[in-house]
Amino acid sequence: MQANNDDTLLVTGAGGFIGGHLVQNLRSQGFSKIRAVDIKQLSEWYQKFDGVENLVLDLRRREAADKAMEGARWAFNLACDMGGMGFIETHKAECMLSVLINTHLLIAARQARVQRMFYASSACVYAADKQLVADLAPLKESDAYPAMPEDGYGWEKLFSERMCRHFREDYGVETRIARYHNIYGPLGTYDGGREKAPAAICRKVIAAQLSGSNEIEIWGDGEQTRSFTFIDDCLYGTQLLMRSDCVDPLNIGSSEMVSINRLVDITEKIAGTHLKRRYNLSAPKGVRGRNSDNSRITAELGWAPSFPLEAGMERTYAWIHDKMTSGGKDRRFAEAIA
Ligand code: NAD
Repeated sequence: MQANNDDTLLVTGAGGFIGGHLVQNLRSQGFSKIRAVDIKQLSEWYQKFDGVENLVLDLRRREAADKAMEGARWAFNLACDMGGMGFIETHKAECMLSVLINTHLLIAARQARVQRMFYASSACVYAADKQLVADLAPLKESDAYPAMPEDGYGWEKLFSERMCRHFREDYGVETRIARYHNIYGPLGTYDGGREKAPAAICRKVIAAQLSGSNEIEIWGDGEQTRSFTFIDDCLYGTQLLMRSDCVDPLNIGSSEMVSINRLVDITEKIAGTHLKRRYNLSAPKGVRGRNSDNSRITAELGWAPSFPLEAGMERTYAWIHDKMTSGGKDRRFAEAIA
């Protein structure tokens, strides 16, 4: 099923990282009726565009979800109260409350007869006991059960996946679900407590250089592993999945697994520096290892993420460096190098 260029497309979480890029991408493809929704004031959005209907709404409220969905043909739900490990381990109730967003959007989608709705789930749904070692087997979609997801954030994602499935099976709301694995790139959060590892490491390396400390703090022993997915792959995979007939949750994640120490090596190489590493063993670390098994996405969509980590980190680093050295124009500059 395709959307036409004059269909109304809803993007929620549009003031955030992935949502902002998705609006930009849809616009560049010629979609002329895009509704972008976020709870943040417009001045706080990472990207906003002329010719897009930008709405500030709290989608935890049912009437806001109705307003957002009105007349939409496709809806991409990227709104969520979330962040990196430092945030989700300390804000579990807030993470769980995002269930209101997706639930109200599903109810509104059913009422408005929206043709297709996308839900952004996460690799945090995977069972903790399958992620105990650093060199683990990549996670297959079936590894989410028996359920033992990340406490708080992961449970909300797993529950909302199931809500999508039941709304599709019982009410005919066509839902598509991606399990994103660590999406990164420019124009996202890099400070303030919600940032994730790639952006945090770029910020710390830049801060160490700017302040002259030449030292970096790493959470854990740095040997925990992850794969990191560049935003371009995320956007491409999301839209391929949305157009497909695949109704079950699908990994959208790079299979290029690296340790956090290796991610620091890559960032140092981009920066042309070598820093002293201080390991904070009591900081939030998350699971020991995680990687994406891409056999299913390859079979279903004939495609899998492939953007090289070094190239993605170069672009991310360049954007964060620019923000942190823009002469104080960015209000977050002082905090970022503190
Ligand atoms: P983000 O925090 O940059 O964007 C989320 C946006 O949702 C924010 O701008 C926030 O203001 C908005 N929001 C929060 N509560 C809202 C509400 N009540 N009403 C309206 N808007 C609200 O995060 P992101 O990285 O762009 O993530 C987008 C989606 O992808 C989220 O569902 C997230 O859980 C999922 N995801 C992201 C990653 C990743 O690595 N970035 C990984 C797995 C899953």
